[in-house]
Amino acid sequence: MRFCSLGAVGEVTGSCHLVEAGGHRFLLDCGMHQGSREDEGRNRDAFGFDVNTIDAVVLSHAHIDHSGRLPLLVRRGFRGPVWTHPATEGLIGIMLEDAANLAAMDAERARRFGGPQATLGPLYDEGDVRRTLRLVRGVEYGTPRQLAPGVTLTLHDAGHILGSAIVEITEDTGQAAPRTLVFSGDLGMKDAPIVRSPEHPGRADRVILESTYGDRNHRSRANTELEFLEILEQAWESGGNVLIPAFAVGRTQEVLYAFARNFDRWNLGRWRIYLDSPMAIRVLEVYEKNVDLFDPEAAKAWREWPHPFRLPNLHLTTDVAQSQHINGIRSGAIIIAGSGMCNGGRIRHHLRHHLGRPQSHLVFVGYQARDTLGRRIVDGADSVRMFGESFPVRLQVHTVGGLSAHADQSGLVEWYARFPGHPAVSLVHGEHSAREALATVLRTRHGAPAELARLGEWQDV
Ligand SMILES: [Zn+2]
Repeated sequence: MRFCSLGAVGEVTGSCHLVEAGGHRFLLDCGMHQGSREDEGRNRDAFGFDVNTIDAVVLSHAHIDHSGRLPLLVRRGFRGPVWTHPATEGLIGIMLEDAANLAAMDAERARRFGGPQATLGPLYDEGDVRRTLRLVRGVEYGTPRQLAPGVTLTLHDAGHILGSAIVEITEDTGQAAPRTLVFSGDLGMKDAPIVRSPEHPGRADRVILESTYGDRNHRSRANTELEFLEILEQAWESGGNVLIPAFAVGRTQEVLYAFARNFDRWNLGRWRIYLDSPMAIRVLEVYEKNVDLFDPEAAKAWREWPHPFRLPNLHLTTDVAQSQHINGIRSGAIIIAGSGMCNGGRIRHHLRHHLGRPQSHLVFVGYQARDTLGRRIVDGADSVRMFGESFPVRLQVHTVGGLSAHADQSGLVEWYARFPGHPAVSLVHGEHSAREALATVLRTRHGAPAELARLGEWQDV
């Protein structure tokens, strides 16, 4: 068995790895590149393999940087199965339909403004999404499934978002000793809200490990909750609104859950809370259908607490008129909206109204990838461009790392260290400094043969 990485190499988007086992070829994830215009332009590139040679795809989770190019794969001829957890099956349709809508809007904009992109058309359309969804097959955690003769797939709970999976592939063709490759997918934090802690597959001959936060540790949950309380207090005193850019899947549900958990302590009853994201609102339903996958605290919460998705002052805004109405509110509102990295979605309309107001607060609760609008604001830009205009950044910016859905450095190291014999590990899905830092810790503390995966370079398992 061997594999090579075709995306998420030195960056946190575009997850895609090609595996050869038992004479067959499999793709782990088929994610979209996100970030600058050039990054996103790479989504149209050739895949780096002949699409017709791929026997099956294994999808670790629904996030678009892991799933977003699947309809393009299908458009270019892929007809095999897409194996993933059944909860991801529920989420993926919502994600990909949204991606197809965005692609249509991008194409329309390009057509109107001319230039080299004007004649390209959308990356894919709703028909491609429908054809993709017909190929999706559910696999429960811990239930081995034959991908091909002698090649077995087992998914384990990655504790990152609902349905997220660690992918284990074993090759046992009887000709040599069995070999096992483990791909972490996006690994969650231990004791993260709602989802369970990441499982461990037991053993591996080689590991592909994400490294988003390979160079830092998050604050503890208790400190994070204190930090959030302080931000809300400050925001109330300064008389502005609080904007929270959040991914529709995972972050949004966890923020609402944190609100329910701390409703009285954070004095949330005095705020008007808006979830301004039609996609995130659809995702709430999928979460509610899968309470059996929640950790024990969350399962209890759904029975006993104020319902996290139905807080008394929570307003779910689906149509544009309702969303525009929020723009008229100058204080006392908490607005949760996508996209999580501010590179699209309704959050940009709220930013337009609040970037210049020192009394407003912007709270980042998720990773901001390089070259996104969110990252530029986090890095302290004085002004940013949106809708063809320049806006001064005068509002107060906060980053709450402890709410992240990704394991921090100690979480990643601890998870890896449980593999007996400390197998070779290829680091992916992290910016260069994060991967370097994690590799150093793995080598010095555990003597691990850790290396930074290189684009298109084959590695034996
Ligand atoms: Zn993810």
